[in-house]
Amino acid sequence: MKITFAGAAQTVTGSCFHVETDTTEFLVDCGMFQGLPELEERNRAPFPFDPRAVRRLLLTHGHLDHLGLIPRLVREGFRGRIVTTVPTRDIAHIMLMDAARIQEDGEGEEPLYTTEDAFLALDRMDRLLESGQHYRMAPKVEVTFMDAGHILGAAFIVVKAEGKTVVFSGDLGNRGKPLVEDPAYPPKADVLILESTYGDRTHRPIEESIEELRQVIIGTFEAGGNVIIPSFALERTQEVLYILYRLWRERKIPKCEIYLDSPLATAATRIFEKHSGRFPEPARRIFRKKRNPFAFELLRYTLTRRASKKIPVEGGGAIIIAGSGMCTGGRILYHLKANLPRPESSIVFVGYQAEGTLGRQILDGAERVEIMGSIVPVRANVVRIEGLSAHADQGILVDWALHADPDLIFLVHGEERALAALAERFISHGYSVHIPAWHETVEV
Ligand SMILES: [Zn+2]
Ligand SMILES: [Zn+2]
Repeated sequence: MKITFAGAAQTVTGSCFHVETDTTEFLVDCGMFQGLPELEERNRAPFPFDPRAVRRLLLTHGHLDHLGLIPRLVREGFRGRIVTTVPTRDIAHIMLMDAARIQEDGEGEEPLYTTEDAFLALDRMDRLLESGQHYRMAPKVEVTFMDAGHILGAAFIVVKAEGKTVVFSGDLGNRGKPLVEDPAYPPKADVLILESTYGDRTHRPIEESIEELRQVIIGTFEAGGNVIIPSFALERTQEVLYILYRLWRERKIPKCEIYLDSPLATAATRIFEKHSGRFPEPARRIFRKKRNPFAFELLRYTLTRRASKKIPVEGGGAIIIAGSGMCTGGRILYHLKANLPRPESSIVFVGYQAEGTLGRQILDGAERVEIMGSIVPVRANVVRIEGLSAHADQGILVDWALHADPDLIFLVHGEERALAALAERFISHGYSVHIPAWHETVEV
């Protein structure tokens, strides 16, 4: 079997692996590159395979760095079926529509694809699997999706072909998350393709992170500022809402105004409500009792631009959640522009910030940043709460991989330091590790 690393090779974004067996040709994910300009240029580079020859696309989950180039793939002739889970299909709908709109609105450059391409891509998403269900994809090729515990609907994928078992981790989740079950363990595998996002980190337990968030909220309100949370539309937003709901119900935060200022995150929240039966306890029970952590008295959804503009820019006592999660666009830019210069306000990062993004610059301690053509001084309190991450840390990644006990590990979906640290850990356990280059092909 031949595997070509078409993305997420020595970087986090652009997940795409091309696999050729003696009976078929398929992809695992087809994601967008994000962050540094030289990475984003790869979104226009020719695919290292012929899209017309690809028979299936196995989609691990709904993040843009895993599905964002599917419409381009369809535009270039892919006519196969897309295999994924029910929640991921729902999520893909809003993510691809939003991505296509951003492409069409973009100034200067030719769009990578259009809304019509996105629709055609969604039409192909018709083979839906539940976790653990086997699917015979081609003669002598069997596929199983299993819970990755990363976001709603996320899976890792077990492929059996040519007498070998190959596991693609997709993005692996953290443990103990309120709205998604812990990752399942993989079966014994010959080859493991493993994400490495936080391969060099150890997260604090989630309860400590919730307490950290509570302290920041209280401190910021006392100082007279606002709490600004740049948030990914999927999972992180719903999780933050759920945590705020819990803190409010337990009277651990004062009465305040909470704004969800993101149409995309609002649409995602509706999908989460629809699939609340898939949440772990106690979240599932709360929904069953007809209480809704996504609709409580402090929370306001600002869907229109006009409603968004009514969010007070002065004063304090508000929690504002807006996208994009890495501050590369969207309404978060207005809130950062208003609050970054204010020492009494806090910017709370709850998710991964890729190299080259505005979020990363702020997190790395920039004294001033450029936002929509203005130079903005950074005087606000900048906080990172990593325990809320949707990604496994080093300990979870290693423990999970040891269950697969593979002969060979390919480390992908990580920046250099994370890849190196994780490789070292596996080598010390006696495993063979390879960190593939972009477009490298290996025979397994
Ligand atoms: Zn992801
Ligand atoms: Zn990812």
